[in-house]
Amino acid sequence: MKVKLFIAIALLTQFVAASVGTSAVADQASNIVRWNGKAAMTHINLLLRWTPRSIGTVGHADTVEYITQQLSSSPGVTIERQEWIGSRGDGATLHLINVIGRFHPERRRRIILATHFDSIVSAYKDPDSRLRADPMPGANNSASGVAVLLETLHSLRRWIDGTVGVDFVFLDGEEGPYSLGEGDPKWYPLGSPHFADKLQSLYPTQLPEVAIVYDMVCKKDLRLYPEALSIQSGGGEFRRLWDIGKKTAPGVFKDGPTIGPIGDDQMALAAKGIPSILVIDFDYSPWFNTTKDTADKCSITSLEAVGRTTVLYILNKAASGSSESGR
Ligand SMILES: [Zn+2]
Repeated sequence: MKVKLFIAIALLTQFVAASVGTSAVADQASNIVRWNGKAAMTHINLLLRWTPRSIGTVGHADTVEYITQQLSSSPGVTIERQEWIGSRGDGATLHLINVIGRFHPERRRRIILATHFDSIVSAYKDPDSRLRADPMPGANNSASGVAVLLETLHSLRRWIDGTVGVDFVFLDGEEGPYSLGEGDPKWYPLGSPHFADKLQSLYPTQLPEVAIVYDMVCKKDLRLYPEALSIQSGGGEFRRLWDIGKKTAPGVFKDGPTIGPIGDDQMALAAKGIPSILVIDFDYSPWFNTTKDTADKCSITSLEAVGRTTVLYILNKAASGSSESGR
């Protein structure tokens, strides 16, 4: 194990050196190896205790509290909350909240890392019809994205000499007004369009250089393929992320075939002109939105592949010195 870890650190150090030059290479490599898949799994296991985490449930409030507590214990982070009341066709009111952890808010150049934290309200897709009203644990669909963001923040906490700030955006209501996601024929996301409408107040001088959205990123044998809208919107940033991913985790990041377009939170951000990338393994059959979307389907290795690629990408962006959408 030690030998393997040493080799991994050496390779990562070499790669960071190639990416960002020689200054503070050791520090930067430690940011990457500090990304801890076991810690990410701990986040997932904690979140599952509050299932369901869908709009209006106690678990939803507990999840918001947990995210807020994690952000507030992170140095250099300012918290912003967007709270609003939504409605749906049957007259029900929806209490919605996006939680944003702004890491180094004073920096003008910014990267958005986003995920949704709400879960599906019930396991509507379970093959056993008797279980379809049961809670949907959502280890992969939605806890995995939350875990990736929280552990990425943790691994960056000692990174202070960069030029780029990162906004960790925990979006509400991605599963739609009925919290049924794909199970609702009239599905639309709630949190990301609200966030996109408020861009001016969060980014008064310049838009973020990129937004990366994570969803369903923990399963064993994770395979990430380019998503159609992400290629189009992400442009050069998509290429940069994928090239780093292929070097860091060649078994996980793949060049093709292209998937989608997949309707997720990247849509609203792409529509505002931010290069936006969805990182998702949508091939989650037979567990997708069933009672079997549990933590045992997740892999520490998969989480680390996504997390360490993300940290390398951020360091690479910070070293690039300028905004390049590549479009
Ligand atoms: Zn999802």
